[in-house]
Amino acid sequence: MSGSTITPWVVGNWKMNPLQADAGALLKNFKQLLNEQNIAEAACHIGVAPTAIALTTVQNELAQASRHIMTVAQDVSRVAGTGAYTGELSAELLKDYGVEFVLIGHSERREIFADQPHIINEKVKNALNAGLTVIYCVGESLEQRESGQAEQVVLQQICDIAAVVQAEQWKQIVVAYEPIWAIGTGKTASPEDAQAMHAKIREGLSQITPMGLHTAILYGGSVKPENAVELAACPDINGALVGGASLNAESFYKIAQAFANTK
Ligand code: PEP
Repeated sequence: MSGSTITPWVVGNWKMNPLQADAGALLKNFKQLLNEQNIAEAACHIGVAPTAIALTTVQNELAQASRHIMTVAQDVSRVAGTGAYTGELSAELLKDYGVEFVLIGHSERREIFADQPHIINEKVKNALNAGLTVIYCVGESLEQRESGQAEQVVLQQICDIAAVVQAEQWKQIVVAYEPIWAIGTGKTASPEDAQAMHAKIREGLSQITPMGLHTAILYGGSVKPENAVELAACPDINGALVGGASLNAESFYKIAQAFANTK
């Protein structure tokens, strides 16, 4: 079973960065690189997930790029619609403002903000029902990996959302496998270990939905230009969710290029 024919996705997760002036410079430089040497849309989907306050500005900036670049929200409310929910940003509001993609279940949300599986399920359900595409993040901790539980933990996270994803909505799901011990640490899973987990995820997905064969499964965890080519060569690694390296235009561009070139 292999997902090597899937168009790759490379998405930059800016997290709680950068300040306005730096974000402007980052986008300007990235657009300039694309102008000089375009990456074909058919070769790689590219997206940027800025802070909530910057979503509209970034979206307007990206509309001036030489190719389509997705604007991705980093999270969404567990509450649907509109109403008296101070501080929340619903899937319907994102959609209304033209944002079509959202990260859900990032390990920082799970760990720091106590996004439990039932909360994540509410977010996934709302996002899908509003017509958004969900980049659903899964991944094990170092302790879980060292005790031989990595596969079980990750497959459980995949099974968790099956309760709320309707059969025809699986095409709105992209999975990002991000081993927690590799996020922001400089440690990357070896291409072999990452490919093995991606193949397991694809197998698990395929038992739930026929779409599993076509679902893009991204790898995240200290992806940089130096390791992107090797990761991109793995048949079930269909792209990357990039944190730190997405804050540098040249690094992010090179990662996108690596995935575009090898698929
Ligand atoms: C992330 O947070 O999604 C991520 C993969 O971060 P980094 O690339 O910095 O490890």
